[in-house]
Amino acid sequence: MKGRKLLMIPGPIEFDPAVMREMGKPTTSHLDPWFMEQFGQALERMREVFMSPSGQPFIVAGTGTLAMDMAGANLIEPGDRALVVNTGYFGDRFGALMERYGAQVDHVRAEVGDMPALEQVEEALRKQSYKLVTVTQVDTSTGVLADVKGVAALARQYGALAVVDGVCSVAGEELRMDEWGVDLALTASQKAVGAPPGLALVVAGPRALEAWRKRKTPVCNYYADFGNWLPIMEAYEARKPAYFGTPAVNLIAALNVSLGQILAEGMEARIARHRKMSDACKAGITALGLRQLPREHCRAHTMTAPYYPEGVDAALVGKIGAAGVIVAGGLHPACRAQYFRIGHMGAHTPADILAVLGALESALAASGYAFERGAGVAAAQKVFLS
Ligand SMILES: *Cc1c(COP(=O)(O)O)cnc(C)c1O
Repeated sequence: MKGRKLLMIPGPIEFDPAVMREMGKPTTSHLDPWFMEQFGQALERMREVFMSPSGQPFIVAGTGTLAMDMAGANLIEPGDRALVVNTGYFGDRFGALMERYGAQVDHVRAEVGDMPALEQVEEALRKQSYKLVTVTQVDTSTGVLADVKGVAALARQYGALAVVDGVCSVAGEELRMDEWGVDLALTASQKAVGAPPGLALVVAGPRALEAWRKRKTPVCNYYADFGNWLPIMEAYEARKPAYFGTPAVNLIAALNVSLGQILAEGMEARIARHRKMSDACKAGITALGLRQLPREHCRAHTMTAPYYPEGVDAALVGKIGAAGVIVAGGLHPACRAQYFRIGHMGAHTPADILAVLGALESALAASGYAFERGAGVAAAQKVFLS
């Protein structure tokens, strides 16, 4: 036995061996010419991965929540109004965070597993003027894929900034920042971007930077302030030394390897591969008779969120683990105990999808659930071989 289980949760994910090898190299000075080149390249590559030639990338040590915090801290001033297009737990988090910076926040919600209709979003924008609109591209708590293109177009039409939480989607789902008029998008290293946890990644477009520059009050978060990080990002991109806070040298070098792999695969090919993996996984889930939390019209391609079938409870997650694959339990407070989550993003392959479905079948059999043995794996394989 190899003594290691396959990690298939919605982040952290399995990382490519070349990325992990980069992590293990001796740490250089943060001002070493070699590291300046890695950091500079990573910034340039972020623009391509976010499809934002006009954007300003930021790479800062922290988690995805810090990336959200940077958006809130820099764009919100006390009294500003913000609209959250809410599809789950991370929409709630964005709302709470912006309230902390003094925003008046409204939420447009849908039933759990659904996304609010664009008409609902437009109605809210017509009634009230907002400085910004946030949308979670894939809410990891529900597996709902939101219509970012549609929301961003509405935000633009009504004069609001469009801010996208892309933590579970950037480099896995289609996100065309400049083309769609997204003003700020953010993610974290450990999800579809494919490097170990520890980096907050933000791309701010010209309108977002202009809103930050026009602030009347100081940014109420010293570490998150664009003003502290912008000169650093500009310096590293020019391969010049600069210091504000010590960059996460090994992590940034590893991120650069992963971003290089992503661009070598090509964004279109990568998005198509994530769709195929997702289709295969979901076909397997359906063939086993399991329903899914997100509605059919808004299902993410970076993860799958199946309900436990009749007579099976959350102990299934442990049984899948015993069969060699780590999946995640539920996260949304309204239905946490009723579903589980499979992450499929980054450098994953058909073999990983077949393994997770195989382990799921073993676990379902051990739980006494009646199903046709092999049906899940077969349905996924049919998608791969089609
Ligand atoms: C994981 C995740 C976050 C939070 O990222 P952390 O790195 O855990 O702080 C935020 N939003 C979404 C959509 C996520 O999937």
